[in-house]
Amino acid sequence: MGIKVKDDLFARVRRSMVERLLVQRGITDKGVIDAMLTVPRHLFVEEGLYSQAYTDYPLPIGEKQTISQPYMVAFMTEALGLTGSERVLEVGAGSGYQSAVLSLLCDKVYAVERVSVLAARARRLLDHLHCSNVVVKFGDGTLGWEDEAPFDAIIVAAASLSVPPAYVEQLKNGGRLVMPVGPEGAQRLVRVTRRFGASTTEDLGECRFVKLIGKWGWEARIKASC
Ligand code: SAH
Repeated sequence: MGIKVKDDLFARVRRSMVERLLVQRGITDKGVIDAMLTVPRHLFVEEGLYSQAYTDYPLPIGEKQTISQPYMVAFMTEALGLTGSERVLEVGAGSGYQSAVLSLLCDKVYAVERVSVLAARARRLLDHLHCSNVVVKFGDGTLGWEDEAPFDAIIVAAASLSVPPAYVEQLKNGGRLVMPVGPEGAQRLVRVTRRFGASTTEDLGECRFVKLIGKWGWEARIKASC
């Protein structure tokens, strides 16, 4: 599988980020830690921001969107409980960073992004990193991805007021959904687990994400890409 970067000047900085920002704050999943050590986060932001790529902040990726902070990426990925064999739906691919992390931890990633420029850029970078088990689609991810459902896990990087119905419908029995839910300024990260038609919801704590825009999310204010 993919991701080999020649002359990775940031390998040491990345190691220190993983130790200080992830391990010391409670991330324990060995697979997640290794993936975060492997994926060159700096390549997912513009060159002027390389030096900030290993701090624990969301950073701009253009189109008024941000790459999520490393701790949140690690925390959400850990909460999915991946073992390597899963088919995962990712909504809000953005820069493609979370997709690259997932690609090292599951069988196949189905990533959806509603801003076409971002989807295209993520695709190029994921190709460059040989993440061949990631499919990127441009479209409204509030509908899930019906043709590829059901999924073992779903991860959503943007917040809506409630969980779009397609997500639970498109989860396998035992499948997990991790996403931010709630209005701006009062979002909670939740994990929904589907069990035989019913589902249980756990509150994983407060969080802050951009809006999930689409049929089952917030309305688009400007007619953007879809
Ligand atoms: N995981 C990304 C985070 C990007 S921020 C990363 O690592 O870079 C959230 C992304 O969700 C934005 O790119 C935004 O355009 C996208 N988004 C918002 N609503 C969406 C929708 N309905 N379908 C797909 N993507 C959506």
